[in-house]
Amino acid sequence: MQEEIPLELKNAVEFHGHFCPGVVIGYRVAILARKELKLDRSGDEELVAIVENDTCAVDAIQYINGTTFGKGNLVFQDHGLHAYTFIERNSGKQIRIELKADVFQEESEQRREILRKQNQNIPLTEEENAVLRKARQDMLKKLLTISDDELFVVKNVDIKIPERARILNSVKCSKCGLMVMETRARVLNDKFYCIPCWERELAGE
Ligand SMILES: [Zn+2]
Ligand SMILES: [Zn+2]
Repeated sequence: MQEEIPLELKNAVEFHGHFCPGVVIGYRVAILARKELKLDRSGDEELVAIVENDTCAVDAIQYINGTTFGKGNLVFQDHGLHAYTFIERNSGKQIRIELKADVFQEESEQRREILRKQNQNIPLTEEENAVLRKARQDMLKKLLTISDDELFVVKNVDIKIPERARILNSVKCSKCGLMVMETRARVLNDKFYCIPCWERELAGE
C-alpha cells in the first residue's frame, strides 16, 4: 500500500506519528478544503479552521492547511463530531465539511464481536487479530480511494469569524513567579495568580 500514498499524506503521517484511519480522514478534509476554497498556499493566518473533535484527523489539518493551535487559527470545539469548518478571511467564504454517517457503518458483526472482547481486555486469538488487521487495511484503502462525494457533505455556512490571534499582556504569578496571560490570571487578596497556583491557594496548600 505504501507506494499509493501521496507525498502530503506521507508527511502528515510523519508529523502525526503513525498511519491510521483518522489521519487519512484529516488528509482528505484538508485537500478538499483547499480545493473548495481555492487556497494556493498554507501557513496563512487568513485561513481559520474550526474542528469539532480532537482526533488524529486534526493533526493532518494542522500540517496541511497550516491552521495550527499555536497560530490561533485552529479553533477546537469539543463536540465529538467529524465536522470541520474552514473560513477564508480574504474572500469571506466559509464551508463546513462533514463526514458522512455511513462511512464506518459496514463493519462486520464478526469485527464488532472481536472489538467487544478487546474492550473487555479478553486476549484475542491470532485469527481474531488477523481479522482486525485486515479490516483496518480495508478501511484505510477505502478512505484513500472513495470519492469526496461518498465521503463528505460540504455545506456553505455563515458564522461569526473568530478574531485574529492577539498579543496579550502578561502579569506575574505571585506564587510560582511565572508570567501568566492577563486574561487567564486570577486575583486573590489583591495578588495575581496563575490558575494552578490559585487552585492550590484556595485549597489551602
Ligand atoms: Zn492516528
Ligand atoms: Zn503560579
